Order: sequence, then C-alpha cells, then structure tokens
Amino acid sequence: MSRVFWWLIVGLGAWWLIRRLRVGRTAGSTDRAAPTPGAEPPVESPQRDPLVMLRCAHCGVHLPQSEALLDDAQRSYCSAAHRGAGPR
Ligand SMILES: [Zn+2]
Repeated sequence: MSRVFWWLIVGLGAWWLIRRLRVGRTAGSTDRAAPTPGAEPPVESPQRDPLVMLRCAHCGVHLPQSEALLDDAQRSYCSAAHRGAGPR
C-alpha cells in the first residue's frame, strides 16, 4: 500500500513538473508558437461561425454561415447558381 502511495506522489510530481514547464514555455513565447493539443484555436474570424444559420436570399433554405456564399450586398446564398440568379 505504501508503494502505491509512493508512485502516486511520483506521478503527481511528474505531472506538476510537466505542467509547470508547459505553462512557462507558453508564457515566455508568443501566442503563435506551437499550440497545445486540445487548446482552443485562436478565433480569427468571428463572422464565419459555422453555428450561425443564414437564409438563402433566392430559395429561402437555411444553411450554416460557413457554407454560405455572399454577393456584393452581403446577402447569403446556398449555391453559386442562386447567387447568380439573385434575390427573389
Ligand atoms: Zn438557394
């Protein structure tokens, strides 16, 4: 039992050390260097949120903003054909 407890302490120590080293590295460098896996990617274009639904100005179908095509007036369309056809 005491041996298990010992390995637990060692494991926690190693975990703490790795965590400390990673935090020190990210704090010392710029944000662009080596993103850690699982970390949130930097949000560069909030307008292209895939969860935002837009309505095709031609046929009225709803589609994610990331898949929408925009014309010069910033109207959204589901396809290039409908963008060419224009709003209805
Ligand atoms: Zn459409």
